[in-house]
Parts: sequence; C-alpha cells; structure tokens
Amino acid sequence: MKAVGELTGKVAACKVAVGKDLLEAVEELRAEADITEGQVEIIGALRRAVLGFYDQEKREYKNIEFNQPLEIVSGIGNISLKDGKPFAHIHLAVSDEKGNCFGGHLVSGTEVFAGEIFIRETKMDPPLKREYDEATGLALWAK
Ligand code: ZN
Repeated sequence: MKAVGELTGKVAACKVAVGKDLLEAVEELRAEADITEGQVEIIGALRRAVLGFYDQEKREYKNIEFNQPLEIVSGIGNISLKDGKPFAHIHLAVSDEKGNCFGGHLVSGTEVFAGEIFIRETKMDPPLKREYDEATGLALWAK
C-alpha cells in the first residue's frame, strides 16, 4: 500500500542566517508556513556539521562531527507526523575543500554559514505518519 497525493501549491523558502542551527532553521520555516507534511530541499555551506549514522546492529545513531567548513552538496528530506507532531527527517551530502564528500542524517549542532531552504507541502492520503518499525528499530512511515 502506498500513499498518494498532490502538491497543494504551498511552498516556503528562506535564507538561513550565519551561525544558525540548520535543523532549527528547518523547523522554524516549517512552523511559520504551517506545513505538517512535505518535501525539504537545502543547499548552502556550513561552519561545522554533526551527521548521524545508524548502526544497524546496535540499532542506535552514532554522531560524526565535522569541525570544518563544508559545502552542502545536497540536502534532502521530508516532514511527516511522528507521535502526532511534525517531524523533519533530513539527510545531507557535504563536501570539503578538496571536494571529498561525506554524508549522513542531519542532527542538532550543524552550524550554517549560508543556507537556502525550500519546503514543499504535500497532502498524502493517508497522511504520512511515523510508527516504530520492529524490523529496523526506526520510526518509519506506517505505509
Ligand atoms: Zn535519516
């Protein structure tokens, strides 16, 4: 079973201030635009990054810290309901001064140098909701 929907036309975009936490910036734009489900797209640059890697054996996230300037090669994610509240799930691919790429799951502590965020609202049927998934230990979409 899949969810089916359409873009409703509500789109929010913003520039992110220097020094701002990237995950907080996404949440603030989401809240201001009153979007509870949608797609997220981010580009820009970071002063530092904290990216998560899910250890599939231990079933826990391990954080990787990058204390250096980075480009956001690609930031992509989604917003859906988790425990009844909107939850942003975002992955980043970042690059260093030599173009080496790293990536992972965006967590708090990622500090923006310059950022541009787009959020496109979706209205899926049924709505995208996260539930605990026994097979992975993650909160995944129920459908
Ligand atoms: Zn993730």
